[in-house]
Amino acid sequence: RTVYVNGEFLPEDQAHVSIFDRGFLMADGVYEVVSVLDGKLLDFAGHMARLERSLAELQIPNPLSAEEYLAIHRDLVARNEITDGLVYLQVTRGNPGDRDFAYPSADTPQTVVMFTQSKPGLADAPAARTGWKVISVEDLRWHRRDIKTVQLLYPSMAKMEAKARGVDDAWLVEDGKVTEGTSNNAYIVKDGKIITRQLSQDILHGITRAAVLRFAREAQMQVEERSFTIEEAQSADEAFVTSASAFVMPVVEVDGQPVGTGQVGQVATRLREIYLEESRKAVV
Ligand code: PLP
Repeated sequence: RTVYVNGEFLPEDQAHVSIFDRGFLMADGVYEVVSVLDGKLLDFAGHMARLERSLAELQIPNPLSAEEYLAIHRDLVARNEITDGLVYLQVTRGNPGDRDFAYPSADTPQTVVMFTQSKPGLADAPAARTGWKVISVEDLRWHRRDIKTVQLLYPSMAKMEAKARGVDDAWLVEDGKVTEGTSNNAYIVKDGKIITRQLSQDILHGITRAAVLRFAREAQMQVEERSFTIEEAQSADEAFVTSASAFVMPVVEVDGQPVGTGQVGQVATRLREIYLEESRKAVV
């Protein structure tokens, strides 16, 4: 693979960052994941807007413009001959040359790393026809989940718990209510209404979530932004998650209980179709 690091395109085994990089020592950095279909980028502007916001919340200057990020994304997709896959982008506060809790001086350059992941057939994932099974685990993450930081240890632990229990993902629960999945936003459907947690600092403001809710409203589907419990999910008609890499993924089981019929639901299937169709019209 050819990867990007701080202005250079290099073979992955020649790309390096410092051991003093704050991304490495303190998880002091943010990231984005943009999906690629037919060699084109989905929802690119949305991901750039969120990157800008995540950096601003952490007072990390944004080292590149959206145009520059776009050029690097396109360059990596071309150099790695990606048809379907993902582009990962990470910006950290950089390398102060030593370890210190205080932020380094403003002239410390940020570290920018980008790489591709090839995922042939990304849009036709067989899992979309069978759906995911999820378990619930307590949400023990920090309280600024609206910032897309590289601090991913707890979601990683929750994913491992899901794997150990033979399912696909975990839904995180705080004060009795589902916040989101380990790396996706969570939804239920009841009596035709799509229900998903309202935006706040408790969840990541998913770019796919914003698009899916917009398309759902345009298609005259009812949307309610509020939190819900695991019991509500288990007695819902359908459930699903959204993310840049899973698009709209049906959920058919929650903590061992089937959701609705236990089969992939019509609303999730339709939203997946609409999302893919509409997003493909706006690729860059
Ligand atoms: N929630 C969390 C915790 C995530 O990590 C992600 C994606 O990585 C999402 C939600 C979905 O966001 P997006 O649709 O922008 O990929």
